[in-house]
Amino acid sequence: MSNVSDLLAKLVQIESINPNLSPKGSGEAAIAAYVAKFCEGEGIELKLQPVSEGRSNVLAWVSGTDPDKRVLFESHLDTVPAEGWQRYPFAAERAGRRMYGRGTCDTKSSLAAMLHALVAIKKEKPRATIFVAGTVDEEYQKIGARALVQSGIGFEAAVAGEPTSLEVVVAHKGSVRWWIETIGRAAHSSKPELGLNAIAGIAHVIPELVRLGDELRTRYEHSLVGSPSLTISLIQGGSDICTVPARCEIFLDRRLVPQETPTGAIEEVEKILADLREKHRDLQVRSVLPAVEDPPLEDATGSRIAEVAAEACRSIAGTGATFHGAPWGTDASQLQLTGAKCIVLGPGAAAQAHTIDEYVDLDEVEKATEIYLRMMQNY
Ligand SMILES: [Zn+2]
Repeated sequence: MSNVSDLLAKLVQIESINPNLSPKGSGEAAIAAYVAKFCEGEGIELKLQPVSEGRSNVLAWVSGTDPDKRVLFESHLDTVPAEGWQRYPFAAERAGRRMYGRGTCDTKSSLAAMLHALVAIKKEKPRATIFVAGTVDEEYQKIGARALVQSGIGFEAAVAGEPTSLEVVVAHKGSVRWWIETIGRAAHSSKPELGLNAIAGIAHVIPELVRLGDELRTRYEHSLVGSPSLTISLIQGGSDICTVPARCEIFLDRRLVPQETPTGAIEEVEKILADLREKHRDLQVRSVLPAVEDPPLEDATGSRIAEVAAEACRSIAGTGATFHGAPWGTDASQLQLTGAKCIVLGPGAAAQAHTIDEYVDLDEVEKATEIYLRMMQNY
């Protein structure tokens, strides 16, 4: 068996940019095939799970002695694009104990470490059945993780491999994103009284949403992830400079903290829109649904997977002294919908993700392999 750095280099050399983020992105087919070949070569059972045209999750497993215990180690196969790099992003170039390349940190090092740990646990007959999944599309709409959840395999616990500097993240924010539109009536702007101005309509809506955003930041502070928020992140409307605009749209990015739900967040905005319709009789405003929903990762402090992870991190890497929260999201949002207690844990620094000249520390990748193996042994 090759060492984990060699496997990581192979994975980085296979460009797997999410095609939804760049027309040049090749997607996950080649890397999924490589992972499948690697597992076959090690005599590990696996299956490819088609998710959409040309895009498949790969799921490999080692059966345990207790048929009811199933633990998932998951890492996404796609990466963000690599524009403006000084280095060639797919060379997996090494400099000392660093490896540079798109996906080194986010998240091919987690995937390489999980696969190596799976190969090692196969010789030991673990108690739990250990699954390693490589999923598609984490960087866009998480359709891979959603498909894995919908496939109906139940997991007692799951680990999303993302760069956490080998710390245990037990909670993170979620998000819900959607459009709101106002409908007006076009007219020549020399006779605006014949029209209904959709931009003027949205001008009634924006101050109320800004007020909600301000209020959310002081409403509640979660001890690990901070406060909820609401950002109006895009606006578009109007057709030309001499026409009363018939349509205007704003895009909302609502970040959720544990205990909040996407539905609850949408309903709160719907109530504001209903009040505005009462107040301004000619205002035609509506939410454009469905929204893109990712629930927050509910706090897994106290769960067995969090305890097992913390113990492994402490003894192998000297990390894991406290549990952490994160403002960003991961596939764990979806994986917890299987009923699994989920944590996020992996090599590499979150600050390296999505950067130009992204790199990972190879010592951390080796420690991650040992940590995952210890968790597979002890769960
Ligand atoms: Zn990422």
